[in-house]
Parts: sequence; C-alpha cells; structure tokens
Amino acid sequence: MLQIRLQNFPCISMRSDFKDCIRRCNLCQMNKQPTSLPDGVVTPLPLPREPFSSIAIDIAGPYPTDNKKEIILVVLARFTGFPYLIPVSQNITAVETANLLIEQIFSVHGFLTCIVSDRDPKCTSRF
Ligand SMILES: [Zn+2]
Repeated sequence: MLQIRLQNFPCISMRSDFKDCIRRCNLCQMNKQPTSLPDGVVTPLPLPREPFSSIAIDIAGPYPTDNKKEIILVVLARFTGFPYLIPVSQNITAVETANLLIEQIFSVHGFLTCIVSDRDPKCTSRF
C-alpha cells in the first residue's frame, strides 16, 4: 500500500509556516498594504435648473406593517425638495421600480434629465 509521508513534501506546510511567520512579525503587520482601492474625491452634483429635472431615489426601511409593503421608495425632487414616498414590497425588482417611476413620477412631471441613486440593485439592475 502506498503511504504518503508529509516530511517528503516540505512545501505542503510552507504556506501555513509563512502565514505564522508574517502574523508574528511586527514589521510585516505595521507595513501591511491596503487591499481596497483608495477613496475617490468627493465632487458635488451639478445643481438642477428646474423642478423635476433631477430626482434622487433611495430605499428606506424595512418597517413593520400589516400589508407586504415593508419598505418606502423615497423620490425627492432635487430642485424643490418635494418628496414622493411610495410604499413597496421588499422584493421589488428594478423593472417594478422603473414602472412605479413611470406611473407616479414621469407621467405627472415628464421625463427627467438626471436620476441620482446610491446604486442599490433595485435601482441599477438590468432588465
Ligand atoms: Zn516580517
């Protein structure tokens, strides 16, 4: 029967040896390289020039409720600060979000030049 002896393959334990060595070394711990990209520069958004030319949308909640609409789709006109608060289900999709915007915002105020969001999947997913 073939028997594998670990001492014949020193590279098998080398990885954990390296990890242990680096974890114990103060110099390595103090000079650890960041693994994320540096923060970007904050730049202000251009100001809207007329009401409902630009809106900001976000999701608030979930909140306790009797019906299945636990979260609120917050739509804010950036020029006036006028809010629309639309209760929706937590499982709302990007298509349903788009349909709500068409029914409740675009049909009343016309199409916009800019929609600002925090890149929530409910707002940015592809159809
Ligand atoms: Zn070191």
